[in-house]
Amino acid sequence: MKNPIFVLGSVNIDHVLNTPALPRPGETISGQGYSIFPGGKGANQAVACARLAGKTRFMACMGSDAFSDSLVQSFRETGIDTSLIEQIDGCNTGIALIFVDQQGENCIGISAEANARLTAEKVKSREADIAAAGFLLVSLETPLDGVFAAAEIARNNHTTVVLNPAPAQPLSDDLLGCIDIITPNQTEAEVLTGVAVHNFSSAEQAASVLHGKGIGTVVITMGSQGAFISDHSGTRMIDSVKVTAVDTTAAGDTFNGAMVVALAEGFPIDEAACFANGAAALSVTRNGAQASIPTRAETDQFLN
Ligand code: ATP
Repeated sequence: MKNPIFVLGSVNIDHVLNTPALPRPGETISGQGYSIFPGGKGANQAVACARLAGKTRFMACMGSDAFSDSLVQSFRETGIDTSLIEQIDGCNTGIALIFVDQQGENCIGISAEANARLTAEKVKSREADIAAAGFLLVSLETPLDGVFAAAEIARNNHTTVVLNPAPAQPLSDDLLGCIDIITPNQTEAEVLTGVAVHNFSSAEQAASVLHGKGIGTVVITMGSQGAFISDHSGTRMIDSVKVTAVDTTAAGDTFNGAMVVALAEGFPIDEAACFANGAAALSVTRNGAQASIPTRAETDQFLN
């Protein structure tokens, strides 16, 4: 049987400062609360998959300090297969500095550190593991040559490739041509396509550019509006679940993890997006990155 979900991506330690407003250039702003959370898109997505009951293997590079040891231990306790996490001597684990304002909006600075070691060479050494997965979920906080190598291996082995193209950056047609499902937010969709996505019809235009690159399914997450889907059946909006947002950090990661879990369970894309909207809505009602990701039981109860 194929191992369902292979997540490849970053691990960061998030330092979060709650502020009355996001700081502007040159401004110093006093915080109203400070916390340290485990984060990084890869780690958040792996935790989302595992917490939502997906069988999950996570490939990542981290530092070898005591904090990183306890982070790996916490991934294990969440149910993630951590056998492909490498802890590199003399390296720091990736870091993120996050401001969160009173509306729950955020602003983030990152430094790759050990994440920069997840290269194509390292990824190719795990070809058999990627080929054995049902789904590959990748994001863009680790080297692009590694992401491309993983996507190519997956594509050649009938493993469904889901790319969350975050943080926003232009991508080669070669990489985009290996993707089955792409999940940009509105900013990422604009960077990839040149189309400013602010409503349904602009989302359709952006999706058509991405289909032109060979991507079959485009899911554009649109914050509190929910998710736009475009595939062979046409275009539609899957509405969000209405909640009061406290902190949107990891909303996108929760959405991606949840969507892939539902797809791995055999649900069609619309139902997977509905489930993902529910899990992500729950996550925005809580502070932090991984700390805000709901369990399967919480999500099922919330949606029923
Ligand atoms: P982030 O970078 O903050 O993690 P993102 O920009 O990658 O998020 P968004 O499009 O903002 O992604 O949000 C992802 C999903 O989270 C949305 O499609 C939606 O399901 C859910 N979501 C986000 N904000 C809200 C909100 N205010 N209310 C309900 N659901 C939300």
